Amino acid sequence: MVDCHAHLDELNDLSESLKEAREAGVKGIIAVGMDVESNKKILQIAQGSPGYVYPALGYHIKLLREVLHANFCSE
Ligand SMILES: [Zn+2]
Repeated sequence: MVDCHAHLDELNDLSESLKEAREAGVKGIIAVGMDVESNKKILQIAQGSPGYVYPALGYHIKLLREVLHANFCSE
């Protein structure tokens, strides 16, 4: 089983959670980012668990709207 959508950057105890996932039989985790900061964290986490945590970088649509509005709307 692969966890195909996890916000690993939001966990309080990442190493314990990864240990529990391995013990439960999870063979890999797709870690998703939602903005620049979480994407950076996700990359660090993936580099720390090669072959187990795979990064999926991007913007959550709600956050993207806020960024676009703040930078490109004059209202
Ligand atoms: Zn999500």
